[in-house]
Amino acid sequence: MARVVVVGAGIAGLSAAIHAVSGGHHVVVLEKKAKIGGRGTSQNVDGYSLHYGPHLFDKAGPFFRMCKKLSRVKPVAKSIRLDKTDVIGYGPIRPVGNIKQAAQNKRAIKQKRLANPYFQAVNFLANWGIDYNDYRIKSVVKSRLCASNEGWIGLIGRLGAALDEVGVLIETRCEVKAIDNQQVYLTDGRNFSCDAVILACGANGAKRILHPISSQLVERKFTNLITTFGSCIEVGLSSKPMAGKHCIIDLEQNAALIDYAAIQPMLGNMGSHISAIVTGIEDDRPETQLESLLDRHIAGWKKHIITELRQSRIAVGYSNRIEFDTFGNHKILLAGAWVESDYALSDAAADTGKQAAHGINSIL
Ligand SMILES: Cc1cc2nc3c(=O)[nH]c(=O)nc-3n(C[C@H](O)[C@H](O)[C@H](O)COP(=O)(O)OP(=O)(O)OC[C@H]3O[C@@H](n4cnc5c(N)ncnc54)[C@H](O)[C@@H]3O)c2cc1C
Repeated sequence: MARVVVVGAGIAGLSAAIHAVSGGHHVVVLEKKAKIGGRGTSQNVDGYSLHYGPHLFDKAGPFFRMCKKLSRVKPVAKSIRLDKTDVIGYGPIRPVGNIKQAAQNKRAIKQKRLANPYFQAVNFLANWGIDYNDYRIKSVVKSRLCASNEGWIGLIGRLGAALDEVGVLIETRCEVKAIDNQQVYLTDGRNFSCDAVILACGANGAKRILHPISSQLVERKFTNLITTFGSCIEVGLSSKPMAGKHCIIDLEQNAALIDYAAIQPMLGNMGSHISAIVTGIEDDRPETQLESLLDRHIAGWKKHIITELRQSRIAVGYSNRIEFDTFGNHKILLAGAWVESDYALSDAAADTGKQAAHGINSIL
């Protein structure tokens, strides 16, 4: 049994802790913020579960599988429908009542025709414009991409509760400043020793901690890592400007609008819950770009706002990711959506948490 410190209580850190504790290790999770979940959670405000931008999960992927496995009451997942997903300038990805067009679109998507707008739209919905990922494309096409009835806060809560039940301490408001020879130093002045560390504190957080340990390796590995940023607006509206559509994709702007309430009516059947994202932003005023996009596609939305949450620039995903055991000889493993995995986004976070936990014995 090893003493393992997990730095960060986002999806990667929670997954690492769950798998490390089931591997028989003694685990402590340290999180710098007041709450767990990182970017992959939501907060309940005015009856809406507001996220950090649109978040859809693959119901067969590692993240949701883990949530389901650890829950006594199974979470409910509802799929985003392609007949209710419009591509601006082209129409629905799966048009009802136009069998010929539907068959053509299906073929273009199956053959991954890069120049085809319907394939481009599926690819955008799958990864928000980051790397192409076959697994995630399949999840869109096979209707596995879902929203849950409880928002991501409910799913994250299930992971936290599972760790609590087995006695794993998650210390919040606890920021790791440095690691040196299996000694963990906190910004509040405390320090303690451990056998292994799993860094699940995001790419920037990990880079800061790793730099003093092995600056050359850090420079080499992190220089190639590419981060895609996005800007998001999430609003609860008293109206239904998307008129029952699940999603609108604007390929020219690298943008999408989804209505959680249309996908999952348990999230609010009176109005709508719109989540809009633009990615690959160069503009220094991305929010303005997003607002004018909303004005164009759901005119009048501002008059019906009940509640809202905005992110002007947030890391959505990564390319050229880093191997989880790159710093293994320092007894440090990596977990997060920025770590190499067959999966993407939150599924990559959950998968790499598992990889890191399973790798503990090999670095001791
Ligand atoms: C706009 C947007 C849309 C997205 N859409 C989707 C989607 O549709 N589907 C999907 O599956 N995924 C989506 N994602 C991706 C998903 O949110 C992330 O992949 C996932 O949440 C990353 O989890 P993580 O644990 O790797 O990192 P994070 O969530 O960033 O967690 C890192 C944690 O470490 C903590 N931390 C940092 N430094 C320290 C330190 N020094 N000491 C202690 N703690 C520290 C942070 O506070 C944070 O809680 C989206 C992300 C964004 C931003």
